[in-house]
Parts: sequence; C-alpha cells; structure tokens
Amino acid sequence: MVRNRVFFENTLLKPAKTAKNPVSLASMRPGLIYIFVSSMSKFSIYYPKLHMSHYDIVIVGGGPAGSTAGTLLKKYNPNLSVLILEKEKFPRDHVGESQLPQISDVLQEMGCWDKVEAADFPIKIGATYRWGSDPNPWDFNFIQLEQFKNEPRPAKFEGQRRQTAFQVDRAKYDEILLRHAEEMGCVVREETALHLRSQEQITARYYIDASGHIGVLRRVLGIETHCPTRLQNIAIWDYWTNAEWADFIGVGGTRVQVMSLSHGWIWFIPLSPTRTSIGFICPAEHYKEMKKRPEEIYAEALNSEPRISKLIANATSTGKIETTKDWSFLSDKTVGENWFLVGEAAGFADPILAAGMTLAHTGARELAYTILALEEKKHEANWLKTQYDENQRRRVKQHIRFADYWYAANGQFTDLQEHSREIARDSGLNLSPEKAFQWLAQGGFTNDILGQAVIAGFDLGSMKQVMQRFSKEEVPWLLSAYNMFQLDLVDADIEFVAVYSAGEINRIKCYVKNGQRLPVTGLYGLLIDILSRTEYIEQIYRQLVMVFRERFSVQHAQVALHQALGCLEVMVSSGIVKAMLNPELSKLNISIPIEGELIHTHRD
Ligand SMILES: Cc1cc2nc3c(=O)[nH]c(=O)nc-3n(C[C@H](O)[C@H](O)[C@H](O)COP(=O)(O)OP(=O)(O)OC[C@H]3O[C@@H](n4cnc5c(N)ncnc54)[C@H](O)[C@@H]3O)c2cc1C
Repeated sequence: MVRNRVFFENTLLKPAKTAKNPVSLASMRPGLIYIFVSSMSKFSIYYPKLHMSHYDIVIVGGGPAGSTAGTLLKKYNPNLSVLILEKEKFPRDHVGESQLPQISDVLQEMGCWDKVEAADFPIKIGATYRWGSDPNPWDFNFIQLEQFKNEPRPAKFEGQRRQTAFQVDRAKYDEILLRHAEEMGCVVREETALHLRSQEQITARYYIDASGHIGVLRRVLGIETHCPTRLQNIAIWDYWTNAEWADFIGVGGTRVQVMSLSHGWIWFIPLSPTRTSIGFICPAEHYKEMKKRPEEIYAEALNSEPRISKLIANATSTGKIETTKDWSFLSDKTVGENWFLVGEAAGFADPILAAGMTLAHTGARELAYTILALEEKKHEANWLKTQYDENQRRRVKQHIRFADYWYAANGQFTDLQEHSREIARDSGLNLSPEKAFQWLAQGGFTNDILGQAVIAGFDLGSMKQVMQRFSKEEVPWLLSAYNMFQLDLVDADIEFVAVYSAGEINRIKCYVKNGQRLPVTGLYGLLIDILSRTEYIEQIYRQLVMVFRERFSVQHAQVALHQALGCLEVMVSSGIVKAMLNPELSKLNISIPIEGELIHTHRD
C-alpha cells in the first residue's frame, strides 16, 4: 500500500512560455509542486509555496539501481544529501532473481557483499541449458567444478567466490540493499510514490529515475523508447515450495535451469533450500493462439518438461500466477541537464541473459561516479554525461542483440547466420551471413566491460563454445592461424572514454576501428603495451603468463590468460592488430573442445 505521495504537477510539460515563469504557475495552483520540461534536456521542479525539503540528489525507486546509486554517492561523498523515494513497503516481491558474477564486485564496492552472503542465498555456479539444436542439456559454469572447494558459509569475498554469483530472493535482497543505503546515510522514504500532483515539495540538484520498467520520470520528461528487436514474448511465473534443486555443488552451490520447449522456455531458479522461482516465457503470438488462461498454459508447459516436472513432483506453488510482457526497450536518451535514467528505467533486454540486475548495478555505479565527477568539476560536464549515456544505451542494445541471437539459435524467428548479419549491420558492417557469424565468433559484440572481451557473463572463449553448440560448426580461433601480431593503429579513430574506478573517473584513450572500441586500459591496455615490445606469439604469451602470475592466484591467472587471448582475438578481428604467419616459427594452438572445462554436456 502506498501511504505517502509526493506529487509533481505536470500539466505544464509542454508549453515552454508558461514554464519559464514559475511565479505565474504559483498563482495558478497554489500549494502544488510544479514540474515542467523547458527543453528535452532540462528537468525542473518549481515550488510555489514554502520550500519544505531540498536534497542534492533525489532517487525515485529503491530497487537495486536506486540503492546502488545512493550507497556509492554517500560512500564517496558523505556530504551529499541523498533521498530515496520508494513507493512500496519493503520487503516486497520482484521478478528477476538470477545474477551474474559481475554484480559481486559492485556489492563488494558498496560494502554489502557480506550482508548478502549472510542471507544464505544459493550460490550460482552457472546454468544448465537445453537450448539450440542439441537435445541434451549442457552446463555453463562460471568456475571449474573441480576448483570449487567446499567452504563453510558465510564465506569471504575472495578466491572462488569472486567468480560466482547469487540467486536472490528479491524481497530479501532488495531490502538488504535499501537498508544498507540507509545505513550509508541516504534518507529512505518507503510507501512514498512520486506522482504528478502533491501538497509536498521536494527539490534537488539532480533527479534520478530508478523506478524500473515504469520509468516514472522518463514518462514525465516525454523520453521516447524504442524496441529494436522482433521479440515479443510474454512471461508467466509463480513461486514454489519444496522443489528439488537440480544440482548440489559444494556448500550452497547450484545451477539455474533453462529448458527450451517447442514454443518458449522455462526458468527454474532456486532462491533458498525450499523456495524456487519457476517461469515460462513464450512468444506473445503463441500465447494468443493458445486461447487459454495463463494458469493453464503455465501448468501445461511445466508438465511437458520432464526435467522440471521431476523437480517439482513433491512441491507446491502459491497458485498466484504473475504475468508480464513488452519488457524489451531502449530509451532514446538517459541523461539531461539535471536528470538521469538508470537500471530498467533506461532499458532492458530479455530474461534469457539473466543480466537485468547486472545492468542495473553497473549502470547505477557509473551514474554515482558521474554525479560525483560533476560535483568535482574535474571533467567537462557534457563529456561525463555523454559517456554515461553511451555506456547505458550501448549495453542495452548489445544485450538485446545478444538475446535475439540466443532466440535465433533456438530457431525462434530466423536463421542464426542471417541474424548474425543483422547484428553486424547494426555495428556498421556489411558482411555476408557466414562472415558475420565469424565476426561474432571473433568478439563482434563482446563490448560489455571496458577493457575486456565480455558480454552478459560470457568471455570470448565461452562465446565460441556456445556458438559451436548452437551452430554445430567449428568456431576456430584466429590466433591459432598466425604467429606474429603487429599493432596497426594508423586508420584507427581516437576517442576518450571514461574509466570508473575507486570512486573516480579517469579519461582514457580509446582506439576505434571497424565498430570495435579498444580502450587503452585493462587487458587491452596490457596487450597494447606488450605488442609495442614484441610481435611473436610465444613471447606475447609468456609475458602475459608472467604478468598474471605476479598479480593473481594460479586459478585466477588462468582465467585472466584466457580473457587476454580473447582480447587479442578481438584486436585482430577489428584490424587494430595485423596477424601474420612466419612458417619458421611455432604457432599457439588454442582448441575449443565441445566438451570444455566450463561449458560441457550436463553431467548428473
Ligand atoms: C520476466 C522477467 C524475468 C527477469 N529475470 C531476471 C533475471 O533472472 N536476472 C536478472 O538480473 N534480471 C532479470 N530481470 C530483470 C530485472 O528484474 C530488472 O532488470 C531489475 O529489477 C532492474 O532493477 P531496477 O532497480 O532498475 O528496477 P526495479 O528492481 O524494478 O526497482 C524499481 C523500484 O522503483 C519503485 N517505484 C516504481 N515507481 C515508483 C514511483 N512512482 N515512486 C517511487 N518508487 C517507485 C518500485 O516499487 C521498485 O521498487 C527479469 C525481468 C523480467 C521482466
């Protein structure tokens, strides 16, 4: 129940003439807050009567995005006053429970990984898929199972736990985060919704829309959204008590189940030893054709899947089926003069990637850094905002494309190679379907984390393995065909991109060639440095091994090495590195076994 309402008046959204004169507004509707947009980029609240409260930052929405932004703003600048308005009373249920390991780093930076670990959520080791042409389930693990040691919980954020994720009960998780934001000094007002008419007046220097899919400020501001995908799916889900876990891995570890059916797929996400989220997603068209109630469609889907039916044989559901649709969208812009959109208010791809919360946490982190940097005035404001906007929009767009790719691999709407061509075209490349498929296999859209070749938790090696499974074709490494690698930066454009680290934004040089952005930081930075000294793969490889051995544990060094080779592959495919073969010298033989260490046929 929403008890309190902070209303904003929006009757004057469009008429700029009146909007420029807040005094006349006051005389029109005394006692109300007026918000209006004098241009597409400016969001203002004018209050005609007594000024009751003012904050540096008002965040609308206390989900993962809102709590992350609030916490990091207060962590790095405790002097800022931050208000979080949340329309619900927490704890409240929310769909979207399966995380990616990237989130763990953000939780640690926020100072609340230990609190989340203490809640004893299942540790997500990876996922078991039945997807693509292979009728057998296959596993994607974030960490090699042999390396995952039995470790008592609560554990520390180190070693193996840096590579894993959580499967979270959102009622508990979102509450932990919101309470943490409060402890960090944010003022949190629950059961307080932002509406368009109110007796209460709140002003701020920055307004953040973290209100999720509803995008309350986005709508007030009239920001258009687009849906750059042909996917039109519908989700039906419920929560179950006493469903069995498909796997028990070490202490508290398991895998999410993703099971494809002839029309759609099922998610199975254990949230505790006894509570499980189970959902069914199908094309909206199929849903309409079925002419059945969602309850029936849901039950039929679950009953038709032998693996899931077995897991729920002795379980009971709440019977309170929930549904949603139309979730894929991208906002035309995410930033204006004094407002920002973050998390799902800015855009979302599809549940198949389990990346919504990852986008929300990472986007909110970048937003907090952006506002901190705007305050410090160390960088030019427009550049900071453009960086923020481009990052959010690029990521959502790539995730939408990647989700499309997954559905195409499942034969959902188009041929996989033809679809690869569309993705390449989107990046400005006109390639044949075969070439486009190769381009993707060589890192075409692994642009998620600056300085790494990663998308939605998949590094390039994992991507290649998945593509092999999808297509039944060999997806070789370019690196294996050559042995000399030369930097070729002549035609590359140079941009400056923001690197967000330890509470500060640094301006870093970035090479752009053939649609790929290669910032001189992270693994790309390391490779550019090594390539400026040597061209031979054997020496490049040795130097990488040396650097990683110095920096990381044996286990981590191996992961970093694979990722660095992925980056080198991306550099070759984008033309930033010229690859040559010297018959006198040895080559690096990187194989992609169908049965890999992290991705392999499911073993019970
Ligand atoms: C079917 C489905 C399955 C999904 N599965 C996954 C998954 O497995 N893994 C994953 O990572 N993501 C998943 N997602 C996406 C994930 O749920 C979202 O991306 C994530 O919750 C976004 O976080 P957020 O903080 O931006 O928004 P939210 O979590 O939606 O939080 C927004 C908050 O704003 C509040 N609010 C709304 N309006 C107002 C207002 N007017 N005033 C004040 N407060 C307001 C809401 O009450 C809410 O608490 C899924 C999404 C869907 C649709």
